[in-house]
Amino acid sequence: MAYFYVNDNPQSTGEHEVHQTGCVRLAKVKSKTGLGQHQSCHEALKAAAHIYKNVDGCATCSPDCHHR
Ligand SMILES: [Zn+2]
Repeated sequence: MAYFYVNDNPQSTGEHEVHQTGCVRLAKVKSKTGLGQHQSCHEALKAAAHIYKNVDGCATCSPDCHHR
């Protein structure tokens, strides 16, 4: 289990990235919303989709969920 966050600020391409605790790219995120503990990035992405319509996994910490 890992704790996930979604970036409150979208990428230039419009999607909000989902990160795990400890991701190096999370340190650069100015504002984020906690998504709680999840078994995998797939569940975390579903939780993030309730907050933001356009979500994607981070390429660094959640490559399995990175599509764009
Ligand atoms: Zn990340």
